[in-house]
Amino acid sequence: MKEIAIQSRSRCEMIDITAAVQKAAGEENILSGIGVVYTLHTTAAVTINENADPDVRRDILAALERAVPLVADYRHAEGNSAAHVKSSLVGVSEMVIVENGRLVLGTWQSLFFCEFDGPRSRKVLVKFIT
Ligand code: ZN
Repeated sequence: MKEIAIQSRSRCEMIDITAAVQKAAGEENILSGIGVVYTLHTTAAVTINENADPDVRRDILAALERAVPLVADYRHAEGNSAAHVKSSLVGVSEMVIVENGRLVLGTWQSLFFCEFDGPRSRKVLVKFIT
């Protein structure tokens, strides 16, 4: 298993972790298999989406903000319920196929760590199954 350290810089942002996950596959000499990309946090998520137009990331974050406003009728005293809800909506893991030593992603796809309660120091785990 590999651990990827992430430092987020905003309350909400999507950070491209594709290169780090590809590096982890290389370090573990994975030629063919499945990678599970998983984050241990309850106010963050992992997703695969478009890497080409940064407006897509902006639109995803804005749509989540509209769907799950920061301030609403929440009870959780920590004040970050919106981030918890977004984490569950997006999900804390993705699976990615590895073939010929490379992550199999579409031309416009990247793996993103989604921060919903930053800035914070975060961790993503990657476990490959061959
Ligand atoms: Zn909380």
